[in-house]
Amino acid sequence: MRKRFQWSTLVLVALSCLLVLAGCGGKQEATTSGNEAAASNGLEAIKQRGKLVIGVKYDTKLFGLKDPASGKVEGFDIDIAKAVAKHIFGDETKLELKEVTSKTRITLLQNGDIDAIIATMTISDERKKQVDFSDVYFNAGQSLLVKKGSPITGLESLTPDTKVLAVKGSTSAKNIREKAPKATILEFENYQDAFNALKAGKGQALTTDNSILLGMQQQDPNYTLVGGNFTEEPYGIAVKKGQTELLQAINDTIKELKSNGEYDKLHEQWLGVKPE
Ligand code: GLU
Repeated sequence: MRKRFQWSTLVLVALSCLLVLAGCGGKQEATTSGNEAAASNGLEAIKQRGKLVIGVKYDTKLFGLKDPASGKVEGFDIDIAKAVAKHIFGDETKLELKEVTSKTRITLLQNGDIDAIIATMTISDERKKQVDFSDVYFNAGQSLLVKKGSPITGLESLTPDTKVLAVKGSTSAKNIREKAPKATILEFENYQDAFNALKAGKGQALTTDNSILLGMQQQDPNYTLVGGNFTEEPYGIAVKKGQTELLQAINDTIKELKSNGEYDKLHEQWLGVKPE
């Protein structure tokens, strides 16, 4: 009797220990997988939050431009952002747009202020060290914008006397230093500031993607593109490194838009021509 009692106590103690251990183990497991989820699956967090937060340009006609009167932001990148929201939530209005510039966009993404960047952003090896990119969703190329009648006709006209205007944090600012090493490069915070500087005569040419310059030309037809494209600027949507499910949702959206004809429509609507 006494012996049996001891045995059952031992079994009970052993069982309790096991339960406690299992409990601890279980808890640990839950925490670990929770952290992993946060790191690798931002999509779940976005779904729980109920909206997608996208960093877009507010200064770039045709891609992302804010109308100060209505407060509306419009452009090709905005429509792509809406399509991603629609893909994830079945509702394109479950979207919050936040302003980024070429200089601020990667920091805002790293800080978690935005889920993704859809902002005329070229996929480059240097940037790939910091962010992950979607498939290419637009093909641009760097060019020059000058006042109509300007003696500048292309890269070869950029002499030590030429001031070329560019935007901080853009590939354009970096490329132009390599392509026109003799010219003086002035860098601005955003594209409207750079364009205003060109109009104020602070430089003789403005350089960035042809797609952005096209929007400026529409804003003021006294300005024109010259010299053709001298780089390739494939645009990608950037997400934080390791956000594989969000990236998959974005790539699926791009594929969908291309296969259902919506991509061509958007391209024609904003750029005036069908994609090549
Ligand atoms: N596509 C170029 C870049 O990613 C120029 C446009 C921009 O500044 O966003 O830097």
